[in-house]
Amino acid sequence: MLACSVLLLNAQHLTKHKKTFPDVNGFKVLKCDFHMHTVFSDGNVWPTERVIEAYNEDLDVIAITDHLEIQRQKQDITSSGDLNRSFVLASEVARKHNILVIKGTEITRVVPPGHSNAIFIKDANPLFNPTKNEKPAAAEGYDTAVNLAVEQGGFVFYNHPFHNLADDKVVMPEMVDKLIKEGKIKGLEVINGDRFSREGFNWAIARNLTLISNSDVHTSMPLALSNHDADHRAMTLVLAKDRSLDAVREALDNKRTLMWWRDNVIGRKNLLEPFVKACLPVTNYSFDKNQLTFFIANTSSQRFVMEPISTDNYFIAHPIVLPVSSEAAVSVGIKGISAGDVTIRFRVMNAWTNYEEPLIVEYTFKK
Ligand SMILES: [Zn+2]
Ligand SMILES: [Zn+2]
Repeated sequence: MLACSVLLLNAQHLTKHKKTFPDVNGFKVLKCDFHMHTVFSDGNVWPTERVIEAYNEDLDVIAITDHLEIQRQKQDITSSGDLNRSFVLASEVARKHNILVIKGTEITRVVPPGHSNAIFIKDANPLFNPTKNEKPAAAEGYDTAVNLAVEQGGFVFYNHPFHNLADDKVVMPEMVDKLIKEGKIKGLEVINGDRFSREGFNWAIARNLTLISNSDVHTSMPLALSNHDADHRAMTLVLAKDRSLDAVREALDNKRTLMWWRDNVIGRKNLLEPFVKACLPVTNYSFDKNQLTFFIANTSSQRFVMEPISTDNYFIAHPIVLPVSSEAAVSVGIKGISAGDVTIRFRVMNAWTNYEEPLIVEYTFKK
């Protein structure tokens, strides 16, 4: 009887809110967040909680990236002094929940040079800058830490490049620009929590960097989501060969990422276009004289809004809104094309290939 009640007290129930995206060009779409904090730096939650939150949001991959020099709870957490400790604790729980955890850290300096994340590192301890505990000095030891991370096989990206809260201006410190040119910093965190840097997006494309979108969560994730009135956290969608950390790394090195932020998917056209077409396949169509009827399904967890681009040959008056798990049936009169293929074009109003232009997709129907 006693044993039974103990078991009941320990029973835990978690609910995963499924988020699905179809494969794109043979790649799996992995939902990733490469930037988050725990009580081992300036976050408010225990590392294992980050794994539970990731499970609830149906993430595939997280990186725990505590600041090394900011240890707010040092008086209460008497650890071994091992700066990999938050990763170790998270990893133990992650295996059970089928979440992949990357070892990482935030390289923390004031601006310039600012903050960078190093993920896929082997050991956080050598990256610690002991001279300036709590208040890292400008630049001090920044390039040394980046170089050490790269020597360990790490992948480094520059965080939140919008330093001024009042505007969106990207100011790229000279030291960071140099490390980018040397190929040591390979990515840019264009989206950080609730902020999307439009200028940072164009900047990253121009410099051929991997596009990254992260939560940088410090509080509990449900609280952050409710503060931002968001359905899901900012994440990076990684197009990976399989669901493994090696495959994630290979995809990051080859810039196969999209950014999922609020109601938007943002990224390079060569990936975004096949991604949207995979999410919104034509499931059936038919011609009846000059009337074309087609069906488009939404197979993803993202709602899409498509604005038709009418021509002299056809006119579609209204935007097509495709909620999650929906299908739209569209009938349109075709003029001036008696034989051959009919191509219908849409502006996807929440898919962006640069700051100003939504993605245009087209569907071709054989007559
Ligand atoms: Zn930061
Ligand atoms: Zn951070």
